[in-house]
Amino acid sequence: MRKCGDCTECCTTLKVRIVHGEEYLSKYGDTCKYVMHGKGCSVWDNEKSHFCKLFNCGWLVNEAIPEKFKPNKCGVVIKYEGTDVETSFAKYWCNERDYKNAKKSMKELLKIAPTRETTKNQIIAK
Ligand code: SF4
Ligand code: SF4
Repeated sequence: MRKCGDCTECCTTLKVRIVHGEEYLSKYGDTCKYVMHGKGCSVWDNEKSHFCKLFNCGWLVNEAIPEKFKPNKCGVVIKYEGTDVETSFAKYWCNERDYKNAKKSMKELLKIAPTRETTKNQIIAK
């Protein structure tokens, strides 16, 4: 399976954060207070990241999605509701830092990994 590496997109995208648990929202905006930008999570090894470990990131689990669609490169985060990528319900979130390009990526992604729902989210600048 792929690894997050330098990506922290799901820690900075509002709706994904709400899925993880609102208690992690920073008082300054939508970014999780535990994120280390470009490096990962400062609390990954303790129970604070419990809900985050349940997050089923589409790019991580579905290797049919090309590398170029890594969330921090294309601005789109995909969440699968189930573990079977063939049948699972997928949700997409676009960031607003570069919404025009994220939308383009989303169009391509929808052909590879169809979904029934798309949601545009706000994100604060990193
Ligand atoms: S969006 Fe996916 S690849 Fe990026 S940090 Fe989250 S789980 Fe990892
Ligand atoms: S707790 Fe860690 S994995 Fe979860 S959103 Fe915050 S930085 Fe990301």
